[in-house]
Amino acid sequence: LDTKAVRIIRTEDDHLAHNYEPLPVVVATGEGAWVTDVEGKRYLDLLSAYSALNFGHRHPALIAAATEQLGRLTLTSRAFHNDRLGAFATALAALCDKDLVLPMNTGAEAVETGIKVARAWAYRVKGVGVDAATVVVANGNFHGRTTTIVGFSDDATARDGFGPFTPGFVSVPYGDAAAIEAAITPETAAVLIEPIQGEAGVIIPPEGYLREVREICTRHNVLFIADEIQSGLGRVGTTFACDREDVVPDIYLLGKALGGGIVPVSAVAADREVLGVIRPGEHGSTFGGNPLAAAVGLRVVEMLEAGEFQQRATALGAHLKTRLDELVTHGVTEVRVAGLWAGVDIDPQIGTGREVAERLLSRGVLVKDTHGQTIRIAPPLVIRATELDWAIEQLKVVLEG
Ligand code: PLP
Repeated sequence: LDTKAVRIIRTEDDHLAHNYEPLPVVVATGEGAWVTDVEGKRYLDLLSAYSALNFGHRHPALIAAATEQLGRLTLTSRAFHNDRLGAFATALAALCDKDLVLPMNTGAEAVETGIKVARAWAYRVKGVGVDAATVVVANGNFHGRTTTIVGFSDDATARDGFGPFTPGFVSVPYGDAAAIEAAITPETAAVLIEPIQGEAGVIIPPEGYLREVREICTRHNVLFIADEIQSGLGRVGTTFACDREDVVPDIYLLGKALGGGIVPVSAVAADREVLGVIRPGEHGSTFGGNPLAAAVGLRVVEMLEAGEFQQRATALGAHLKTRLDELVTHGVTEVRVAGLWAGVDIDPQIGTGREVAERLLSRGVLVKDTHGQTIRIAPPLVIRATELDWAIEQLKVVLEG
């Protein structure tokens, strides 16, 4: 075969590090929930770039904000002020109901920042001895790809061969609040968890877990850090996944959708007693808080303030759950749904998650497998119910073989 797509994929194979294994589709344009490949074939996007495209491809309001800013100013670095960052910080802090935010670019950077802030808080406020602070994390976590972060992952592929790792992390079973409490010592700075584990396969902890973690952290004077990078910003039908249990963490970690699918934007949000411990010169990023990111991020926050996207995620998510539940025992062994976000475990007799993703691709539906048997469904929140129904019909056909 010598199609345009095959030729492009070949050039990638020749000169790209092989750190991904993409599905064989070469996307050229996108609009809303749809993308078109280089041959002109259309696909419904049920991945949304791992929830970075919660508002869909090229949402007009976000493109307008970015275009307007591109015509004015793109980068200053934090050596100087820019006329966009203050408004973004104010709006994002209000959305999080926190005093302060610290802007970065990628999710992993927000996680690293959260860890640094928690350690600084432990030494300067809690009174933990020099270099003794620990952070409790959960088995099955995914927080990014830096050496510190993969060091506390239990995914062998992510971790093995990249040591030595940063000490100071303790991992306990996910969804087990008592295990967290048992791991806490006087040196514990923070508990860092995903309110719903995304990369692990949309793992929803038992009802009450987040509330218990909140109570345990308060009782032991430990910071609760919620990694809402994938779960937050409308995906589960509320602004944050922690809202599902009316829980407010001490630190929110945000990313992905914060950049509107246009630029990498991440942030840490916390109150002054926590985030205020960081002093000038101790942390930063050349691109963090740049005016383009701030202009897009501000528009994202404004779009979330109205609540429309959260409502769409709730309504469409309920519909998605009904349709997916019908597939259990028909090629699917288990379904987990939170808002417009689902983990679908494929019966091994049908094939692997990857094989199902490839068959869906040939039927015009984009999904990505995770951990072997699971496919994740996370459509843009702008998708229509009829489009969702069409995609599930395609999945049904694939499962029926
Ligand atoms: N935290 C969570 C929960 C994530 O899902 C991800 C990415 O998938 C990250 C952190 C890392 O984000 P990034 O890839 O932007 O570094």
